[in-house]
Amino acid sequence: MIRLYISFLLFSILISPNIVYSSSSKPVSKSYPQYMLNKTLFVPAYSIANTEGFYSKWSEKQKTLILWNDNLTLLFKPTSRLFLANGATRKMDHPAQLIHGMMYLPYSFRKKTLSKVRLDLKNGKLPGKWKENKVSPSKLTVILDPGHGGPDPGAIGRSGTREKYIVLDIAQRVARILKSKGIHVIMTRKADYFITLWRRAYISKLANADVFVSIHGNAHRKRSVKGIETFYPRNSPGISRKERHRHNNSRKLAKNIQYNLIRQTGSQNRGVKPAGFYVIKNCSIPSALVEVGFLTHAYEERKLRQPSYREIIARGIAIGIIKYIQTTSKAKS
Ligand SMILES: [Zn+2]
Repeated sequence: MIRLYISFLLFSILISPNIVYSSSSKPVSKSYPQYMLNKTLFVPAYSIANTEGFYSKWSEKQKTLILWNDNLTLLFKPTSRLFLANGATRKMDHPAQLIHGMMYLPYSFRKKTLSKVRLDLKNGKLPGKWKENKVSPSKLTVILDPGHGGPDPGAIGRSGTREKYIVLDIAQRVARILKSKGIHVIMTRKADYFITLWRRAYISKLANADVFVSIHGNAHRKRSVKGIETFYPRNSPGISRKERHRHNNSRKLAKNIQYNLIRQTGSQNRGVKPAGFYVIKNCSIPSALVEVGFLTHAYEERKLRQPSYREIIARGIAIGIIKYIQTTSKAKS
């Protein structure tokens, strides 16, 4: 959605590839397409890679562009001014842009930013050799989605426990754990307010994140029903290869969360199942929805009211997410 919007925005201010732009004394090569965005000239990252002798690779999974040569590895994320040089954070003049599926960097990057990075490397201000497969979870973004909120309480327990409070507290605990591991976390809601399902899914598209996890509490007519279950988006026939890939990763994510939740809590394992829930279906990234227990089950409700138990639940979810990230980034390299 955002990419579409940016593309549209750019369409109106597109510079023809044949026009030579000269904001500085030297015009850039005529052969590469360039873009003007907010009075800033952007050039394709691949052209910089070609000129400066870098290999380049786009990782769809991590939404990251990697440029590397023998002694320097650079990582870029769309819409971010920050990038990594041999694992160290550096800043460029303007955020990188993903335009028509291609990464663009500000024109000043090559002469100014890259020169500075090279100087830092020479003066020992940057780590030496750094391998791309050392990509740590710190470059990853996880979206946590506590269910319900505001006028929508979600499930209500037998002694009045409201799902919206339980899941918000658990999500905050998960966020704390993930952040302590250097993972960037975005919450779809941070307090007790209402947010539409559409907006929850939309946040995941805007944020360019890697993982989406929705957290819920369960309810059942039968008071004896208990346990933990995790859902991943149902596979529909005729989906694209990219969507299938997302489905597979979503299932992996759900499995990791479920396994670690059961391991941490010892609760009844209700398994990992496909489902058509709106938020996980309409996400463009691997997503799972976890039901942390039944508020309609007296014992589980009592447990979920205890902060110490919610911490255990949070740990299970966080470990599941981290394990998923580790296995998928290993498979990548
Ligand atoms: Zn719910």
